[in-house]
Amino acid sequence: MKYFKAFFKIISSLLLVVLVVLIVLALWPEPSPITPNVSTNPIYIQNTTIVDAVEDTLIPNQSVLIEGKRIISITPADESTPPQNVEIIDGAGKYVIPGLWDMHSHIGVKTAPQLYMPLYIAAGVTGIRDMGFIESTVPMQEWKSAIEQQTLLSPRIGAYAQDMAGFNFSEKELELFIASAKQESGLFLKVYSGVQNDMLETIASQTNKYGVTFAGHLPRAVSPIKAAQLGHKSFEHARFFLYNSYPGSEQLRQDYEDAYQGNRDENAGPVMSIARKQEMIDQFSDSIFYQIADTMIAYNTYYVPTHLTRKMDAYAHDEDYRDDERLKYILMAQNKGWQEDADEMAEYAKGEAKTQTQIDFYKKGLELTKKAHDAGVKVLAGTDANDTYVFPGLSLHDELEELVKAGLTPAEALVAATQTPAEYFEATADYGSVTTGKMADLVILSGNPLADINNIRNIDRLVYNGGVYTHDELESFKTYVKDNASGIKGLALTVQLMARMIMGG
Ligand SMILES: [Zn+2]
Repeated sequence: MKYFKAFFKIISSLLLVVLVVLIVLALWPEPSPITPNVSTNPIYIQNTTIVDAVEDTLIPNQSVLIEGKRIISITPADESTPPQNVEIIDGAGKYVIPGLWDMHSHIGVKTAPQLYMPLYIAAGVTGIRDMGFIESTVPMQEWKSAIEQQTLLSPRIGAYAQDMAGFNFSEKELELFIASAKQESGLFLKVYSGVQNDMLETIASQTNKYGVTFAGHLPRAVSPIKAAQLGHKSFEHARFFLYNSYPGSEQLRQDYEDAYQGNRDENAGPVMSIARKQEMIDQFSDSIFYQIADTMIAYNTYYVPTHLTRKMDAYAHDEDYRDDERLKYILMAQNKGWQEDADEMAEYAKGEAKTQTQIDFYKKGLELTKKAHDAGVKVLAGTDANDTYVFPGLSLHDELEELVKAGLTPAEALVAATQTPAEYFEATADYGSVTTGKMADLVILSGNPLADINNIRNIDRLVYNGGVYTHDELESFKTYVKDNASGIKGLALTVQLMARMIMGG
């Protein structure tokens, strides 16, 4: 009896210690945010080369004057002297491009989303379209105005999706969404894969009536031609072209439509087997593909291939791919999720033939991006940041490399991350190019990106939202993320994440 009492005492005090540790971690303060730089004087980039990606050309020997957040003038360097009281940046030997946009990003996976913000800035990604599932401690509108007021270091949020929007939800839920979208500029409806035909028709008629955007996955049950005609603003992920460009596509859509009948399960319907993917590659039909591409052009439907997601599917088994040194920037709990996801994917594609199909499927996606782009479909650069092995901010450079691998020129890849996003947001007056009057979100590179797209990784300075960031400062932002994602701080954030999940957040 005495023995049991002593044992019970030890166990209960151990539990108490665990509980206290958990409470301490749960109450650990969230990372204190980095304060944005705000220049008091105008900024003058002297004698630099401006990259005009739209025209695929360089404009050398230019001086750029910036006041507040805008470009005031661009003049030939030999015809201008720096005004009084300006902060001079020596632009000699440097290349200036507009800030990059990641058009398919998930800024937060249910924990301190501001944790990853500095990574975007460090990568010269000054704007994003957020595709949803944000667990934010601040409402998005507050967040947007904090960016505007230069108190939060974060990329601009051109648009953001509402959580869960786009499943086969009820008309009542749609009404509630429309009501909030009418009040929140930038809020759009993210369509997901499991939406049925009649639901997409309802979404279209309701959102179109109030000028609200719907975009996202092409639902598996819906023809891309119909979705484009309904006003679906962008199709995400290159696989949609493969799913819909072979003779079996129509039947496949019908099978999904039947399976979604009366249920909200995204995973209902035919399994996307590797054999089926091989069929899609083998029986790919140019004529079906071009019907889709032509309709997208006619209805101004944008295309966001996110090649990095299929690259993960293809190389999940590959140790070199898995051993990415950037994992140090990812919160430990999230990394664990990534590893599990990649393990599952490797298991699904186990065996040489299956792995090869996954690689071919990813490569076919690249090929179709080139085809679609050449036909005139508007391609947007998007990464799917925070999905498995897609690093916030940093991965945009990888996606641009993918676009070049697909066959776009470096200039065309840059356009997909600058000018085309500006067109998507109908904001070409402010963004998209280095032009007098536009916002001065400028990445200053130490190499020519038109000669080699990888030069976008060589950032010398960033001018963003009224402040200048040196190379070293940008590097320190990565250190900040690494420090907060690992060790005791990372553990604390992980516990907070779990607490939120348990409490249904
Ligand atoms: Zn996504």
